[in-house]
Amino acid sequence: MRLFRNYRIIGLLLALVFFFSLIAIAAEEKAPTFKYVGSAKSNVYHYPSCGSAKRIKPGNLVSFSSAKDALGRGYRPCKVCKPPAQD
Ligand SMILES: [Zn+2]
Repeated sequence: MRLFRNYRIIGLLLALVFFFSLIAIAAEEKAPTFKYVGSAKSNVYHYPSCGSAKRIKPGNLVSFSSAKDALGRGYRPCKVCKPPAQD
């Protein structure tokens, strides 16, 4: 009976580990993969930390995975936060 109880605890721990790894995977997928952001209303791209980038309305936010991506879509680097023109 005691042995059975130990197996139950191990099973519970395994279930917990499995559950938390699922949460970790979900969090990873939600993490932003973009490096730079811009506004659909302008042609400037910024570091996400730039003050101008923070003023962009969420509905107008455009994200870029690289400088090449931003330039390819007709955007130019911001003169304030100065993101690189190439990665
Ligand atoms: Zn900027």
